[in-house]
Amino acid sequence: MKEQDWHGLKEALLNDIGKNNFKNWIEPLDLSHVEDGVATFSVPTSFVGNYVSQQYGDQILFRVQSVSSDIRRVHFQVPASTAASRAAPKPVARPAAPERPAQVPTAPLDRRFTFDTFVVGKPNELAHAAAKRVAEGGPVTFNPLFLYGGVGLGKTHLMHAIAWELQQRRPELNVVYLSAEQFMYRFVQALRERKMMDFKSMFRSVDVLMVDDVQFIAGKDSTQEEFFHTFNALVDQNKQIIISADRAPDAIENLEERIKSRMQCGLVVDLHPTNYELRLGILQSKVEFYREQYPDLELADGVLEFLAHRISKNVRVLEGALTRLFAFASLIGQEINLEMTQDCLADVLRASDRQVSVEEIQRQVSDHYNIRLSDLVGPKRVRVYARPRQVAMYLCKQLTSRSLPEIGRRFGKRDHTTVMHGVRRIEELRQSDAQIAEDIDLLRRALDG
Ligand code: ADP
Ligand code: MG
Repeated sequence: MKEQDWHGLKEALLNDIGKNNFKNWIEPLDLSHVEDGVATFSVPTSFVGNYVSQQYGDQILFRVQSVSSDIRRVHFQVPASTAASRAAPKPVARPAAPERPAQVPTAPLDRRFTFDTFVVGKPNELAHAAAKRVAEGGPVTFNPLFLYGGVGLGKTHLMHAIAWELQQRRPELNVVYLSAEQFMYRFVQALRERKMMDFKSMFRSVDVLMVDDVQFIAGKDSTQEEFFHTFNALVDQNKQIIISADRAPDAIENLEERIKSRMQCGLVVDLHPTNYELRLGILQSKVEFYREQYPDLELADGVLEFLAHRISKNVRVLEGALTRLFAFASLIGQEINLEMTQDCLADVLRASDRQVSVEEIQRQVSDHYNIRLSDLVGPKRVRVYARPRQVAMYLCKQLTSRSLPEIGRRFGKRDHTTVMHGVRRIEELRQSDAQIAEDIDLLRRALDG
């Protein structure tokens, strides 16, 4: 999140809380910095800070997450210069930096991005295994490791995890992680300050170089050129390089051919969009974390399954949704159930609507139970039709945004109370009847595509 994002959000907050409250409490806030998932705002006094935090903290967090879903907390702080009064002397000019050893300043690593917190599933198991291998710090076997995949699938997480682990195992190594954007920034700065020699020798003394989001330098010719030289110099010295991008090397437009082909010399692995199991696994592991933060909150059965089913393939969106849900539930002090979830996340759900249709569910269910579609929605009440019908109704309630009356209409013009009864019955049976539980699981997976 940037300063200008905050300005945009202020407008939204003005609408949320009204002009007077806004003038008193929100107007004076400035975005100070964002670090480790915490957005810090500067406030004029600690009273304002406390009040805003209590009264508007959740609303501000909610808005902030709409532009930056990885932010988990908002924090309000009186800036040090105000707090420490006039007595504090102005910082004196720093002593000149020593000539050597110049170290490449590494971008800060996110504390949460470790192998421990990375949930492994089919879509990311190769990338995870490759990252693990590199993190052992043994002899270089593939160079570079090129990780690619869509946004929010865990590229940065894996790179940070490698860096953390290397720091543990091989503290003597000079491990550098930075984004391609930062690489360019440093390069341009070196050019401007006529320090290209320093720049070159600095990067060439690195033992492990990780460059995130390398697609960024495509089309930036002199940066590409310099990156290519750095890359080659390190490969020649048998130093490990790890690169990430949002797509495969040959799919990056305006990236020089020779760079593409060097990237492909190593191991290229992709992170696939998540599947249902992985999303559920990630949600379960994040919930553990929230349970510590919100020990009193109850989470109803089926909510995580619902989210895993309905929310997009991108983990960042999934996490943001969960954060919001817990924040919201703690704010109103109620159990998190399906209804609240649908309410609280209406916009997210709409945006990532998978559009499973009632018809699709009916088709799957009748296939599964080997009955005719016309019997599934027809009037016959014998158990062989009635049970699958209830299962289908239950899935419609869970997986679509249709209301009970709407669902009823599509099941042979049945009443909404019939649907409600069916949904409840299946909810009970899921607990007591292993066969039903398994049927539901299989059907859900089939519908997940
Ligand atoms: P990318 O760099 O590919 O855009 P990130 O690494 O920033 O994605 O991941 C986005 C968010 O999703 C991060 O908070 C990260 O911790 C989380 N995340 C992604 N994949 C996983 C996973 N397999 N297990 C746990 N968290 C994950
Ligand atoms: Mg990233």
